[in-house]
Amino acid sequence: MTDIETNNMLESTQLVIEEALQKLGYGEDMIAFLKEPIRLLTVRIPIRMDDGNTRVFIGYRSQHNDAVGPTKGGVRFHPDVNEMEVKALSIWMSIKCGIANLPYGGGKGGIICDPRKMSFRELERLSRGYVRAISQIVGPSKDIPAPDVMTNSQIMAWMMDEYSRIREFDSPGFITGKPLVLGGSLGRESATARGVAIMIDEALSKKGIPLQDARVVIQGFGNAGSYLAKFMHEAGAKVIGISDVNAALYNEKGLDIEDLMERRDSFGTVTNLFKDTITNEELLSLDCDILVPAAIENQITADNADKIRAKIIVEAANGPTTLEATRIVTERGILLVPDVLASAGGVIVSYFEWVQNNQGYYWSEAEVDTKLREMMVHGFNQVYELHQTRHVNMRLAAYMVGVRKMAEAVRFRGWV
Ligand code: GLU
Repeated sequence: MTDIETNNMLESTQLVIEEALQKLGYGEDMIAFLKEPIRLLTVRIPIRMDDGNTRVFIGYRSQHNDAVGPTKGGVRFHPDVNEMEVKALSIWMSIKCGIANLPYGGGKGGIICDPRKMSFRELERLSRGYVRAISQIVGPSKDIPAPDVMTNSQIMAWMMDEYSRIREFDSPGFITGKPLVLGGSLGRESATARGVAIMIDEALSKKGIPLQDARVVIQGFGNAGSYLAKFMHEAGAKVIGISDVNAALYNEKGLDIEDLMERRDSFGTVTNLFKDTITNEELLSLDCDILVPAAIENQITADNADKIRAKIIVEAANGPTTLEATRIVTERGILLVPDVLASAGGVIVSYFEWVQNNQGYYWSEAEVDTKLREMMVHGFNQVYELHQTRHVNMRLAAYMVGVRKMAEAVRFRGWV
């Protein structure tokens, strides 16, 4: 991703926040306050590599706003991580938490690195080093990290262990997305995909399309993409296209998802095992009912928005569609379920995990699933209703729902 793209990401987020707050009747003071994170920490983390040399990694933690409660959001390990991106991502987390009515503001962290090129022990040292570097500003009632792009439950376990050592008491509530044996929640690993599947149900019913045999295209085969493909396949839909960073696979009769799930590596790479592939660009313009961008930012842009042939777009990734593309697809009558709503399943079950850690009492998977569905459907209905009654696109409607509680909390606290 280029700097211009990430700059645009932050700027376009700020534009939508501004418009949402204006529509809710707030003035310039509130807009100025909520447009930027209240805190951004940059850290330099020296790590001893396996070859004996030390390498310095750069990491960030951005906290958008803590008027509602502690901040919450994932940590990504990716070569393209940068300050602007982390800031934008932390603002999106606030909106997600607002839509789901969680007692959190948004946070996000990242380390510039390529975990695909690091050993297990190097990753452990980096995860622990990051926690040591940010430990002052995080904690179970301050800011609660979680998995994001290319981080997983093992990394969460190391981070939780490091934090508990620093504080000298067991602190499972410091981080979510942990392995089950360390206080993780049932249903957390597949939660983002579950949430997306619930949003697909809702969107299909608005469009009057049955799920049975609906044609689904999924960009990305990481955590969200692969679980979603599995859920769609199990529910009787036809997953006709999937992709990873290298290429895409297409079969109009439906792909063999079980086989692909078995053969993917832990970063979601699988297309390298096939000769017959199409490009990611071709995948996005396939004729289908539902298109799910589940990879990275800026995939549907002004350049390809005209070519999308889906009836519904459900954003499982953060920021896959630019503002201009949102306008184009909305005008073309495509129903877009925006990221801040569609991908909230992850943070919702993270919230359940944190509640279970605080209670020391653990729920069944059925309980998690029922509560997740309730919250996601409630969020969808609120956003859809505002979209209809105020004649605003789904993204703006989602921001209006998502920022409302935070602005009210800021007012009550007397900050603005
Ligand atoms: N990284 C996920 C997201 O972008 C989950 C965050 C969390 O569970 O706190 O929503």
